Amino acid sequence: MIRRRTPKPRSHERQLARKYSLRRRKNVGARLCLGTLFALALAAPSPAFAKTPQATEIQTYPERPTPSQSALPGSPPKQRPVPEAPKTEQYTLSQDRYEKAIAYSRAEYVLYFVSYILDVVVLILLLRLGIAARLRDFAESVRGNRWLQGFVFVPLLIGILDLCNLPVHLYGHSLSLRYEQSVQGWGSWFWDWSKSELLGIAFALVLVLILFAVMRWSPRRWWFFFWLAALPILLFVFFISPWFIDPLFNTFQPLDTKYPALADQMERVIQRTGLDIPKDRMFLMEASRKTNDLNAYVTGFGASKRVVVWDTTIQKLTTDETLFIFGHEAGHYVLAHVRNGFLFFSAMLLVALYLLYRGLHWALGCWSEPWRIYGPEDWASLAVLLLLLQVMVFFAMPIANGFSRAQEHAADIYGLEVIHGIVPNAAEVAAHSFQVLGEVGLADPNPPPLITFWLYSHPPLAERLVFAHTYDPWSKGEQPKYVKPR
Ligand SMILES: [Zn+2]
Repeated sequence: MIRRRTPKPRSHERQLARKYSLRRRKNVGARLCLGTLFALALAAPSPAFAKTPQATEIQTYPERPTPSQSALPGSPPKQRPVPEAPKTEQYTLSQDRYEKAIAYSRAEYVLYFVSYILDVVVLILLLRLGIAARLRDFAESVRGNRWLQGFVFVPLLIGILDLCNLPVHLYGHSLSLRYEQSVQGWGSWFWDWSKSELLGIAFALVLVLILFAVMRWSPRRWWFFFWLAALPILLFVFFISPWFIDPLFNTFQPLDTKYPALADQMERVIQRTGLDIPKDRMFLMEASRKTNDLNAYVTGFGASKRVVVWDTTIQKLTTDETLFIFGHEAGHYVLAHVRNGFLFFSAMLLVALYLLYRGLHWALGCWSEPWRIYGPEDWASLAVLLLLLQVMVFFAMPIANGFSRAQEHAADIYGLEVIHGIVPNAAEVAAHSFQVLGEVGLADPNPPPLITFWLYSHPPLAERLVFAHTYDPWSKGEQPKYVKPR
């Protein structure tokens, strides 16, 4: 994807993925499968490149007009003449946008940590107050069969956790409305939340039932066997999500139907990539019904593989700028980021499961009496697993995000190289598309380094813009990194 925050209600974990990141506070079902990590892993970029200039250097306040919003849906994007001057050398915002970007970003960072801490506190309280044990007792009293008890216990526990986190979600949406990022009404928002809850709980139920079955079958090796069992399921969900899950939250149509000229131009870029992405794999998502933000992403694999461009992107960017973004997305495919992301996630999942196994025994050794948990196979131990998982995901974030930033940076390079020669003045086009992306999405002009390290799945926008503007192996007689000249 082209940017780090995706308000896309992609819920379910992002879907496994990806698509997502800082802005997405996930529900528990989603987290359960470490979807967060997978998402981050797939989303992908490089802390190694040019450090961000200090804010004072970045922030001049030229009165750059806000991005054109005049393109009508249905009309082809305008071909903006390549500006001679001013060149987009740095990410700059008007005074008003600058203040909003800072306030909005900081509020979201705080909200992110509050959401995390809240989850941990709620889980600790559920255990210490014996509520998890009481839920277990209740499940056991309702159903005789152990596996049917899971159908009572798992949705109850996860439902309680997500309800406790709901106020944070509500506040997050009110923030995005206040800062004009979202245009989604409360009814529609709540309907999305409900759908993602149901999906998350159903998904969690399947995984938890398998987990507890494997725990009974192999008390000492369950972490490994569960890993073997979970991978094909996660892969399957990721595979079918473009067909069955994404359409629950957004409307998609073939890009070709509404923007045939743009689809033709994209084919020129595709020819250069050597990829096989026919026009019927290019989709337009009607994001404008819910958000002002811009985005594009790749998802699926094999038969479900596709490129999705939000209609907001096409409305607010020129054709050339959209082609750069498309080139970036194509880069994710050419550079095998979906596959690499899955492998990376799989490795992290295995480590996480082993740590969960050790951690569960340690925690039950210390607190099984006060928590009234009989042993690892007790349904109530799910609350302990979730608590441990929560802590692990927090510390795994910088690793997953570092991996993601490296991928995003590579996709930026690819996008620049693949449109070179197709689009005049590709560096300026790319830089200006970042400028628009930042202005519209209120990207933080200078995120604190620790925040970038911990939470950013993409390099800070100002860095990406400067990189795009200065990347020029051609004039130096060097070979481009990925797209060799024909
Ligand atoms: Zn990307």
